[in-house]
Amino acid sequence: MKLPDFDYRKPVSLTEACEMLSSEEDARPIAGGTDLIPAMKYGLKKPRVLVDISCLPALREITLTEKGLTIGAAVTLREIVKSGHNPLLTQACAAVGSTQLQAMGTLGGNLCQDTCCLYYNLPPMTRQALRPCFKRGGDTCHVTKSGKVCLATYAGDVAPALLALGAEVTIASPVRERTIPLGELFSGKGETPQTLNRGELVKEITIPSKKSFGSYLKLRVRKSIDYPLLGVAVNLFPNGEKGVSITVGLTAVERKPLSFTLPPDLSEEKRIEVWMTYLADEAYKRAHPVANTSGYSPQYRREMVKVYVKRAIEEALKKSDEKNLLDSK
Ligand SMILES: Cc1cc2nc3c(=O)[nH]c(=O)nc-3n(C[C@H](O)[C@H](O)[C@H](O)COP(=O)(O)OP(=O)(O)OC[C@H]3O[C@@H](n4cnc5c(N)ncnc54)[C@H](O)[C@@H]3O)c2cc1C
Ligand code: SF4
Repeated sequence: MKLPDFDYRKPVSLTEACEMLSSEEDARPIAGGTDLIPAMKYGLKKPRVLVDISCLPALREITLTEKGLTIGAAVTLREIVKSGHNPLLTQACAAVGSTQLQAMGTLGGNLCQDTCCLYYNLPPMTRQALRPCFKRGGDTCHVTKSGKVCLATYAGDVAPALLALGAEVTIASPVRERTIPLGELFSGKGETPQTLNRGELVKEITIPSKKSFGSYLKLRVRKSIDYPLLGVAVNLFPNGEKGVSITVGLTAVERKPLSFTLPPDLSEEKRIEVWMTYLADEAYKRAHPVANTSGYSPQYRREMVKVYVKRAIEEALKKSDEKNLLDSK
């Protein structure tokens, strides 16, 4: 499959990159290209200009400060795995596709990847047979015939781990740089999954420096290449006498990655089964996988949400030296 024609720009600074993205008509950033290039080859994305941000020094750093761990958007997933700074993040990055994809794919590109749908991610010849759906600018959805919105699924592996870690994202903009909770990067819209405005870029992610123990589990058919059919991240923050605070992150079950936290009244509960069951049930309520992917059925994936939340908690507890964590309650 051939790439459509496009102009290539290589800015030397973040400011120049934002200027190019805001001034050029139909310009898009490209980092590792592992999500964007296949989409362009399939004719799903046709940017007129590609702005290559992969080598910008401002996006290539990993820094550890009092505030926390800050990782530039153009740091590759492999570099994050090798740095080994945060075990939960490492686990999620190592779960992405394959080592080749991790070597090329970046943190920013992973977070800003497009949503997936079986009826959208088709080669052009096959797609021609289908009436254009909402995501292709049409007026129908092949997943739910009576549906009024696109239900394409966000299936990035890294976002749930970062959400569970309480990460913030810094956005570079031609107007003013801003830092927001990571959850606000995601729109929940199948067609346009990120909330970035024209000219804006993910600059970096910061994970607060707080002792925690986490685990990421991914449901997929094959052990490599496959996107998650469900991804569950769990992070436990020991809170001394106040017990334990737990955040769960979910992916591949909705149009955006989800997260929620154990309510404070349950934090002091000593019986693990009580908060495990609460978190598993809560995750089940929030997850709504739809029939837009091959592999397992939506019903099976939803049932597995409960199983994976419990398993991820068990794994995180093992890492935390369970006894100490519970003794502190
Ligand atoms: C066969 C295959 C399997 C895959 N499996 C997985 C998987 O298991 N899990 C998973 O999570 N992903 C998977 N992916 C998707 C992809 O490889 C990864 O998400 C990768 O991390 C994307 O990063 P990238 O740098 O290559 O993104 P790019 O392709 O460069 O960019 C992706 C999108 O993000 C935008 N973008 C890039 N950087 C920024 C930035 N800093 N700010 C704003 N926008 C930006 C681009 O404009 C583009 O729209 C798979 C892809 C393929 C082809
Ligand atoms: S969920 Fe529906 S509208 Fe969205 S990409 Fe799939 S078929 Fe198209």
